[in-house]
Amino acid sequence: MITVRRAAAALIASALGFLASTTPLVPQDIVSVRATEENKAKLARSPLDLLMEWDHKLYLVLAPGDVSRLQSLGIPFALETGRLAVSPPPSAALSQGGLNGAYHSYAELERELLDIARDYPAIAKLFRLGTTLEGRTIYALKISDRPELNEDEPEVLFLGCHHAREWITVEVPLLLARYLTGEYDRDENVRNRVDSAEVWIVPLVNPDGLEYSIQTYRWWRKNRRLNDDGSYGVDLNRNYGYQWGADDEGSSPAPVSDVFRGREPFSEPETSIVRGLCESRDFRVAVSYHNFSQIILYAWGWTRRPSPNAAEYAAMAARMADLIRPVNGRDYTPEPACSLYLTNGDTVDYITGTLGIPAITIELPPLDIVHGGFMNAESDISSVFAENLPAMLYLIDDARQKFAASGDGERPGRPAKPKKGKLDALK
Ligand SMILES: [Zn+2]
Repeated sequence: MITVRRAAAALIASALGFLASTTPLVPQDIVSVRATEENKAKLARSPLDLLMEWDHKLYLVLAPGDVSRLQSLGIPFALETGRLAVSPPPSAALSQGGLNGAYHSYAELERELLDIARDYPAIAKLFRLGTTLEGRTIYALKISDRPELNEDEPEVLFLGCHHAREWITVEVPLLLARYLTGEYDRDENVRNRVDSAEVWIVPLVNPDGLEYSIQTYRWWRKNRRLNDDGSYGVDLNRNYGYQWGADDEGSSPAPVSDVFRGREPFSEPETSIVRGLCESRDFRVAVSYHNFSQIILYAWGWTRRPSPNAAEYAAMAARMADLIRPVNGRDYTPEPACSLYLTNGDTVDYITGTLGIPAITIELPPLDIVHGGFMNAESDISSVFAENLPAMLYLIDDARQKFAASGDGERPGRPAKPKKGKLDALK
């Protein structure tokens, strides 16, 4: 009954254009408003969750209280949920066959990781790091010669998909695994890298969220924690323990918020699992993939003060941008994470602040919501990977060079190396 009424209201709202709706809207409904400069200015000062701009409309996801916010801002809106469920906004960037097309679901990823470990046992080993609230496994693929051993080699970490709707961030690290294993016998440069480094790839930090994004609600961001107030989800990229909850601008104490930081640092299995991996290894650099915006971020996110090694991190990020640009001509902007907006409890600050190593967040294409926002076409996957590959290889090489230069691999002025080997119990 409610569904019928809502569908009818959507049709009416759509037919009449942008009349103020009296439809009984619920959280997570999607509404659109006219994409005027006036509306943009009003929305920029509000906590409303802007999904994308398309065809002269701004699309928003409703949280509790957002209907009255829109009304008090005097912005007419139309319900879009029903229409989007059937047919998303028309865009070349939405060409995703089936539910998730060429993108990997949890099960598809799991199968592929098992295949890689089976096909390349001499250089790839799959680790089960732990399980999520809904019982899914978070996997790490280690790529190195003699992967079953803890050799004295620099370790590099690639993380994907903290945020459920950022599907392409699973694909980029996964394709790195495919590249390093597939080219090992053919390409001497790949072989040298794999033989002299340990590359750890965790392509899917948030499997519960990804599945929810594929099956139920494409724009889901958080994990699937049932919060005390009945809402769902913690923002995993606000739940790490360094400067967690430093203020309410860089994260939110409100469970319904899209940037809810959780009840305490590392309250979520996903972040706790990444912490466990970081503490049991000796990473020299880490990268966490997100989308969208085409930016390369480094510490800090929680404060506008520069981090102690900001110059070094800035140089690394600039070098990455220089390596990415020639491939497809796309510009990625290097900048401190705080220049996007303040974030506290994120991965980069945790890794830099706790481990004392460079950590990078790459916001993959597109550039903005006008070009598709979170929705990358399937045909984007290989080109986005291709443009990022030189920067990935640079980070591996940079870690190798610094490791070789420091002799025994010690890092002067940085925290002592953690003990290796804890992970062996977690196969
Ligand atoms: Zn993200």
